[in-house]
Amino acid sequence: MLKKPQKPIKRHKSKKGIANTWKPYNCKFEYACTECHGYGWIYDPNDPPSPVDGNRGRDRLTCQKCKGSGEGKLSDYNEQWKNSQEYHKEQVEKYKRDMILYKSILAKLTEEELDYIRRYV
Ligand SMILES: [Zn+2]
Repeated sequence: MLKKPQKPIKRHKSKKGIANTWKPYNCKFEYACTECHGYGWIYDPNDPPSPVDGNRGRDRLTCQKCKGSGEGKLSDYNEQWKNSQEYHKEQVEKYKRDMILYKSILAKLTEEELDYIRRYV
């Protein structure tokens, strides 16, 4: 079944900016880096999490965006918020197109076929 895209969540709000990035509650910066969330490092994308140990023992890389400091900028927050809004708009458009296709497929089916789909799919 098609899922409606979720709206971006306002995770950080200030008088000047808004972002859907999160930051740890003990973060010492007003704006955490949008890439590493204020930690200064990220997990190596070439070293995927283990199904048993998860993130334990994974390689860590110094965050390139904040050069390891963990501090972010207000402009990054606003830019990230804008990007997530645009991404959401694209997803909604795709969802609308898919729904039109889905409804046209359902319209072609007989009552018996619809009954089968409702019961087993
Ligand atoms: Zn960073």
